[in-house]
This record gives sequence, structure tokens and C-alpha cells, in this order.
Amino acid sequence: MHTVILKEGREKSVLRRHPWIFSGAIREVAGNPGVGETVEIRSARGEFLAHGAYAASSHIPVKLWNFDESEPIDEGFFRKRLTSAYALRKTVFHGNLPDAYRLVCAESDGLPGLVADIYGEYAVCQITGAGMERHRELIGTLLLDYAKGVYERSDVDSRTKDGLPSRTGHLAGAALPDVLEFKENGILYRADWQSGHKTGFYLDQRKNRRLVAECAAGAESVLNCFSYTGGFGLAALKGGAKHVLNVDSSEPALERARELAALNGFSPDEFATETADVFQFLRSCRDSRKSFDLIVLDPPKFAETVSQRERAARAYKDVNLLAIKLLNPGGQLFSFSCSGAIDDALFAKIVDSAAADARRPLRTVRWLSQGPDHPVLTSFPEGRYLKGLQLVAEV
Ligand code: SAH
Repeated sequence: MHTVILKEGREKSVLRRHPWIFSGAIREVAGNPGVGETVEIRSARGEFLAHGAYAASSHIPVKLWNFDESEPIDEGFFRKRLTSAYALRKTVFHGNLPDAYRLVCAESDGLPGLVADIYGEYAVCQITGAGMERHRELIGTLLLDYAKGVYERSDVDSRTKDGLPSRTGHLAGAALPDVLEFKENGILYRADWQSGHKTGFYLDQRKNRRLVAECAAGAESVLNCFSYTGGFGLAALKGGAKHVLNVDSSEPALERARELAALNGFSPDEFATETADVFQFLRSCRDSRKSFDLIVLDPPKFAETVSQRERAARAYKDVNLLAIKLLNPGGQLFSFSCSGAIDDALFAKIVDSAAADARRPLRTVRWLSQGPDHPVLTSFPEGRYLKGLQLVAEV
């Protein structure tokens, strides 16, 4: 087998079981591994450290599979990892799996380069790296233990870093039905599996949608910013809110949101949509003195990398400041960030400083995160990306 030999002292992160090796840690590549091929990782002194997948062109040239010299990276390995991922979901959902959940969360499930979401009887997966790409057909077959058909949505930017083309299409088993419906917290949703974001739905916000439903009882007016297909808006109505306004810059997403509202029996009087830039929209609300009982802010990732952190922090602050000013007395704000580069402490600081600038006494009452089917491997804190705060304005 080809071997990647690390520089003196650079084995430390591997010994702590961090699943990535950066190019700066590599002393030498012995052999000529093909893109995505399995390699052995050895310390400068020649000790075995791990098996990994090699992709020379990537800024993370090695992603680790395991730390066990006696365990080959074969069908048995992938089967075992999937079994373990499934067992974890059984545990976190107390044996009662929801209709839709994330079955495989890449590094955090010991499967770098693979995301797999279950929607009822079907699975939608994403293969995001060269290592997993080599095992693509096997993964499709193994996923048939959890779904009767598997579709691949490998149309993600990260693939280009590994020199892989974008790919979408049927991967294994039965073809997916055009409309992939599932229930979450008593609401009927549809995964836009052919062209929607991620694998078609934001499963990571599941428990936060439930929380919004619980907190929305009695809210006269809800503003759902960056609504996408209206997930939080529908949850708020289900929870007893009287009126929800969903704002997103994508008209196709809002069209789907309206379809979902109708499917759930909500009228356009209760569930309104507005195609707009959220920043501009919030300013226009401020100018026309509109206010709301409950506001959700779930923006896209403003910081893709650490280098974009400062600019992203300003955008988060702006949008939170604008939203805070629109809260009615006693109103609630649910504010999220899915930028991995902005950690919990920084996010809280940004929102606190927005509240200070808005001169509104607000209290943080809950610290929120991605759902338990999006676990975070303790040796891979990078896996924690979604964070949120629930704040309540003074009466
Ligand atoms: N809350 C949603 C997911 C939000 S994804 C859910 O639970 O399903 C982020 C959304 O923000 C996308 O739908 C995208 O179209 C929208 N978006 C991005 N930038 C925007 C902007 N400046 N103004 C309005 N919407 C924006």
C-alpha cells in the first residue's frame, strides 16, 4: 500500500484522532497513490497511525478512515460504519426514528465525504470527496439496507477541490417518486431532492422548528426571514401563531413554501410570502414602523472560511440589529448562524452587541444547535456548525 509519512511531531493531531491531514504536515508520499486511493499514514519514525484517502490536489490531501492497522477499508468497514451511524440515530431518537433524518454526517460518523439523508423510504446522498468517490457504488448498495432507493446529489462545490465533477442521478435501488413527502412534528413537508438546497431539506433545524412551534402559541405576527421553503413559518402556524410572513430572495423557494402551506391547510391570509432581500426588507419595515411578536433569522452561511469571518460578523450584526428593532415588547427572536467559522461565543457576542446598539433590553433564554442526528465527533469540533439563540424582549 502507498504510504504518507508525516513530518516529525505532526502525528499529534492523528493520535488525537482528528480526521484531517493538511499538506504542511506531510514529509513524503511513498508510492504513487491515485486520487482517492487508500493510503497508510505513518509517523516520521515509521509507526502506523491511520488509514486514509489521498487526494493530492486538495488542501486537505488526506482524510482518515480509521486508526486500526488490522482493519482494511473494504465493504465490511463501510457496513460497520453505517451500522454504527444508524445505531446512534436509534439512540438519540429513543428508538423512534422520525420520517426524515440524517443517517450519515460525514467525518462525525467516521465517513469523510459522505452525507446521507433519509426521507421516508428513500435516501438522498452526497459524495463530497475523492476517497468516498472510489466507493460510490458500494455505498449506494449498502444504503439499500436503510432505504429502498438512493439518489445522489453530489453537486457540491467541495468536490471541485478534489478534482471531481459535479454529479446528480439515481444511485441504487428504486427510483425516487417525484414528490418526496414526509411528516415532521405533525407538519407535511416535501424534500426538494432534485434541485433544492442540501439534499432537499434543512434537517439540521428539526428540533429548532419544534421549539419555534412551541413558542409561537399566541403570537399574532411572525416574521420568518431567509425562509427557504417555509419550514419555520409552517411550524409557527402549527404551534398556534395567527399570521406568518416568510421572506426569501428565492421566488422558487417561496413558491414551494406556498404549496406546502396549502397542503397543510393554511390559507394565504395566514401564510404570506415576500420575495425580497432580507436586509432591505427589514429596513423597509423599520421605516414603515412594522413590528412582530416573533422573528426567525436563519441566514445562509455568511462565512465560508475563517478569512471571511470579519465581514460575516458585520453581516450577522446588521441583520440582528435590524430584526431586534422590529420586536414587539415581549417579542421573541430566534437567531441562527450556520457558519462553522463563527463559533458559539463569537455569535453570542455579535448578537449581544446588536442588542446593545439597538438599545433594547433583551434576554437570551436558550442556546441552540444542530439536531442530534447531526452529531459532532469529539475529536472533530469542526463538525459543529449550526448555532442559535432564542432571545426575549422586555415587556
Ligand atoms: N430556514 C430555512 C433554511 C434557510 S436557507 C429552513 O429551515 O428550511 C437560507 C435561505 O436564505 C435560502 O433560501 C436563500 O434563498 C435565502 N437568502 C440568501 N440570501 C438572502 C438575502 N440576502 N435575502 C433574502 N433571502 C436570502
